[in-house]
Amino acid sequence: MNSPLDEFELIRRHFSFATAQEDVPLGVGDDAALLRLPAGEWLVACTDTLVEGRHFPVASRAYDIAWKSLAVNLSDLAAMAATPRWFLLALTLPEADPDWLSDFSAGLRALAAQSAVQLVGGDTTRGPLSITITALGSLPQGQALTRRGAQVGDDIYVSGYPGEAALALRDLQAGGAGAGLRARLDRPVPRIGLGLALRGRAHAAIDISDGLAQDLGHILHASGVGACLDVQALPWRQPAAPDLQAILAGGDDYELCFTLPAGQAPPDHEVHRIGRIEAEPGLRLAAGGQPVSLDLRGYQHF
Ligand code: ADP
Ligand code: MG
Repeated sequence: MNSPLDEFELIRRHFSFATAQEDVPLGVGDDAALLRLPAGEWLVACTDTLVEGRHFPVASRAYDIAWKSLAVNLSDLAAMAATPRWFLLALTLPEADPDWLSDFSAGLRALAAQSAVQLVGGDTTRGPLSITITALGSLPQGQALTRRGAQVGDDIYVSGYPGEAALALRDLQAGGAGAGLRARLDRPVPRIGLGLALRGRAHAAIDISDGLAQDLGHILHASGVGACLDVQALPWRQPAAPDLQAILAGGDDYELCFTLPAGQAPPDHEVHRIGRIEAEPGLRLAAGGQPVSLDLRGYQHF
């Protein structure tokens, strides 16, 4: 920013949310934050950077940019079955526009409050718009959900309706307004409650950022197994016929994909059983027991 005063005033005004909580003895304002973990819990840490034009459309609302920057990080914590607790914000801005900052701060505050996470520090610099958030959570030792635990015979589930963010993006790129699905692209909802409900139940989990097929592929690879998906079981609620390309290879959904021991009831959340883990490596698609071949665009893992 122009002068140190501007920067401190900016931080004070927009990024000093009240943190009177017991688990933050010292938050924004000193050289570093002090954070207190619950006894016996492990720290779970992740970070993601969002760059204008790449991770969100140019000239997106500041509110939405902030929301999505935090959401994608909380989604990673959810996929680990962590309780989200704190986050840090490294913000690079071309200029300190007060209206933009107020809107950004409001979006950040809204999702932070809804998710019970506290902003405990960050950094502010001038440059092309980019947002890096580091999210911190915790979980009881040994309770993390990883990509590694899928077992042959497991049922595969996905939350929500993957593909809708891709439909919105496709419509935007064609000059439309997002086909009524703009919020699915701009304001993904991290599945924190579902992640917590999967603790001690699911064998493996991942959040879907790069498309269901690719991200499920990470579980398969890490677990040394394969899978068959029933294309007729893939969730879809649009009036048009199911768009397998969007469902399987669209990105930006931030839903959870997870595996449960065969026949085990899923938690009481909006989830759909879409297939089964098999011994043979690779991902296969079937409809009514018959193999389906589909060339997923921009997708080379299988
Ligand atoms: P330092 O020079 O020690 O890095 P800074 O001037 O960068 O200190 O930051 C001062 C305080 O403000 C620190 O507590 C830092 O964590 C916090 N801070 C800076 N930028 C942000 C931001 N964008 N969001 C939240 N806290 C911030
Ligand atoms: Mg600094």
